[in-house]
Amino acid sequence: MYDVIIIGAGPGGIFSAYEFATKRPDLKIAIFETGSPLEQRKCPIDGKMVKSCIRCKTCAIMSGFGGAGAFSDGKYNITNDFGGTLHEYIGKEKALELMEYVDKINTENGGENTKLYSTAGSQFKKICMQNRLTLLDASVRHLGTDINYVVLENLYRKISGNKNIQFFFNTPVRFLEVIESGYRVHYGDAFQDCKKCIISVGRSGSKWMEKICDDLDIHTKSNRVDIGVRVELPAVIFSHLTDQLYESKILYRTKKFEDRVRTFCMNPNGIVVNENTNGIVTVNGHSFEGEEMKTENTNFALLVSKHFSEPFEDSNGYGESIAMLSNMLGGGVIVQRFGDLERGRRSNKKRLEESTVRPTLQATPGDLSLVLPKRILDGIIEMIYALDKIAPGTANDDTLLYGVEVKFYNMEVELDENLETKHKGLYVIGDGSGVTHSLSHASASGVYVAQKIMDEI
Ligand SMILES: Cc1cc2nc3c(=O)[nH]c(=O)nc-3n(C[C@H](O)[C@H](O)[C@H](O)COP(=O)(O)OP(=O)(O)OC[C@H]3O[C@@H](n4cnc5c(N)ncnc54)[C@H](O)[C@@H]3O)c2cc1C
Repeated sequence: MYDVIIIGAGPGGIFSAYEFATKRPDLKIAIFETGSPLEQRKCPIDGKMVKSCIRCKTCAIMSGFGGAGAFSDGKYNITNDFGGTLHEYIGKEKALELMEYVDKINTENGGENTKLYSTAGSQFKKICMQNRLTLLDASVRHLGTDINYVVLENLYRKISGNKNIQFFFNTPVRFLEVIESGYRVHYGDAFQDCKKCIISVGRSGSKWMEKICDDLDIHTKSNRVDIGVRVELPAVIFSHLTDQLYESKILYRTKKFEDRVRTFCMNPNGIVVNENTNGIVTVNGHSFEGEEMKTENTNFALLVSKHFSEPFEDSNGYGESIAMLSNMLGGGVIVQRFGDLERGRRSNKKRLEESTVRPTLQATPGDLSLVLPKRILDGIIEMIYALDKIAPGTANDDTLLYGVEVKFYNMEVELDENLETKHKGLYVIGDGSGVTHSLSHASASGVYVAQKIMDEI
């Protein structure tokens, strides 16, 4: 009988485990993870033999120690303005306090020389306001993909150094059973029992999470999906913003429909990457802290949120269908020059080769207007012109748009202020709960629940 079983070793699960390992090393803990240990996570795309996603059964980018965040840019945003709604459950002050605590752990474990950026006092707030744009408040610790990896290695060493903590890698949990003394966690043909169970399965575990909620009669509600493109342009065009803020979260309200379009996940001097969610290839971005890994481009997403009302509930299914269209037409991600989109023609190899912006992701030149719904595309085009006013050059013909970028959100699981389900001792944290959508919020939720459990045991 374990005291606690954690399902999923992404940031949520890791920060719970770290809290137990450092504060209550006497507790017997097991961590189940579908993917591999950090050093064994390897995406087969090498640019030579394997050029694009081959849809592995377990995606090495999304699964394994470190979760979806392991090869991410490691941007820990300390804010209640975006990244999740943790503050609605635990209060704004507590949420910020925990995000700062997570930042302290990261800087004590390899991130000490990384920079903390802040929007406080930035002159860009006014410039944005003058152009129908809103700059959201945040502090952001940019670890970078390389330092993020080092921090994860150090956290793993500390957690696994505790003899009472056992990792089960390459071991997806099949289902959970409520038993008298707690929970029975089934995997392969075996099971383990625990008093308390923390589920932290992230986005890759969204379908599994829905099934568990069905099995255990836990109420869920449908969430939103964000759809858009990843923009790539020369880094100098955004350097005045990225040098000061690193990542700027900017909102735009469209003139035509009053829809909200926002920037998301800005990667100065970064690269555009494929992302595989449940076999569907979408686009994302990274950047590195080390100078030698930097590119001459900056990338960021422009996303439009879609919320659905009755009778439609499958917001993720809607996003998947749009992503599937790009996969159908382009065999994966499609790339298009902004100038070609504006002229109503597809991009092709020749036009891309003549372009001044060198793509950092090998994607299929095509036509995004055949993929994205008109209203979404109109909003994105409007925002590109609005951004052009604060960062002239954004609306250049050679700016590249990759599609589609989809942010899938998990169904929101019904939880109380302890992030506990209606079953006592069963907690759901991180992106799998639908409450968080970011490294900092997911990690903070992990610390929070570990502390709640330690208060009880
Ligand atoms: C390319 C990329 C870049 C990103 N960049 C940033 C960024 O810079 N800043 C930011 O804030 N956010 C970023 N994100 C989002 C961030 O990674 C997530 O918000 C964060 O990882 C969520 O943490 P989590 O622990 O809730 O879930 P995850 O990190 O998704 O981890 C869940 C883990 O659970 C495992 N799992 C799932 N089902 C099971 C099961 N049945 N049994 C056992 N294990 C299971 C999975 O294999 C996975 O390892 C990025 C995401 C991607 C993909």
